[in-house]
Amino acid sequence: MKLSVLRDLYPGERRVALTPANVAALCARGCELRVESGAGVEAGFADALYVDAGAAIVASRGEAIAGSEVLLCVNASRDADLDGLSAGQLCIALMDPLSDSARFEALAERGLSLLALELVPRISRAQSMDVLSSIATIAGYKAVLMAAEAAPRIFPMMMTAAGTLNPARVFIMGAGVAGLQAAATAKRLGAVVEAYDVRPAAREQIISVGARPIELDLPTDAAEGQGGYAAEQGTDFLARQREQMTAVLAQQDIVITTAAIPGSRAPVLISAEMVAAMKPGAVIVDLAAERGGNCELTRAGETQQVHGITLMGPLNLAASVPMHASQMHGRNIENLLLHLLDKDARLQLDFDDEIVADTLVTHQGEICAGRIRERLG
Ligand code: NAD
Repeated sequence: MKLSVLRDLYPGERRVALTPANVAALCARGCELRVESGAGVEAGFADALYVDAGAAIVASRGEAIAGSEVLLCVNASRDADLDGLSAGQLCIALMDPLSDSARFEALAERGLSLLALELVPRISRAQSMDVLSSIATIAGYKAVLMAAEAAPRIFPMMMTAAGTLNPARVFIMGAGVAGLQAAATAKRLGAVVEAYDVRPAAREQIISVGARPIELDLPTDAAEGQGGYAAEQGTDFLARQREQMTAVLAQQDIVITTAAIPGSRAPVLISAEMVAAMKPGAVIVDLAAERGGNCELTRAGETQQVHGITLMGPLNLAASVPMHASQMHGRNIENLLLHLLDKDARLQLDFDDEIVADTLVTHQGEICAGRIRERLG
């Protein structure tokens, strides 16, 4: 298989799709790799490291694309990120396929084969290819550091000659991959951590990272949807949830929200009134800002001061930790590529394989992935 790693065009993206270690592993398996010059520089991987690992460095995007069967970049969520690709070439990247599924009709007509990483199924054999978990891990960790930086207080309890400082109270809303990582990070910094999730299964996981689960008087029987994700809750449920959450929020110094429903707008867990009832100096980091926000007041990509509260809506936090985020992402892609190779190191797209069937959005002029076909009706 002839593969090329492109320099990402997506604004603010600093990750690279493969690190030199992944290149070495793929070369050892018989792949031929080209890397666009500078593709890994922002993540700390200079061209020379890719050469040592067995890749050829090419000067331009055009040279990287020409003659390659598979093109890799981190983020191809805009059509502009696919500029220069020709019919028959396969691009593997994040593509945000559940937000604007209609754009794939035109891309299918261009004859591109597009594999969207967001659609990797949540089955145990695909766990090592799950880039969403990698991204969420980094985002949960970084959200706590951002909150610690913005807060007017420190996290741990300190008994000093100048008196005792109480530990920060941190509350995590949505205890999936990002939320559990945020809870563990806040705990390591010495905070008193509580967490809540709509899925009953999250309770044990919250306890396992040293946090205290918050229970609400709400039905949990319909909370879990397909594939371990949360099911979308109705407006009544969310209204009752906000009502009961107001008192919990009013006691917190830091709130980190991560609640998401795949393919839908993020649920609104925090209303403007709830923000107004919080302690002055409190910080909210809304990790669902990209999907509309868990707080009604969140503005994607902005930090605001509201009633003395700092409200942050960061975007693409993984790109702010490009070295380790690329290391995780690259390993996920390496595992996926190794899965797609036949014994002679040729690309083999087997549509009887759930991993291929679920993730390949377009191929040979058709929309393939079931979840995207459903959305397009
Ligand atoms: P996610 O990013 O879709 O959502 C984040 C969290 O928000 C979830 O835990 C969800 O339950 C929660 N949430 C949704 N609506 C909520 C509401 N109204 N109130 C409170 N919380 C709400 O999910 P995720 O973090 O990617 O993963 C969710 C689960 O899937 C986790 O248990 C995770 O361990 C599991 N998982 C499995 C695999 C696999 O098997 N391959 C891979 C990754 C994650």
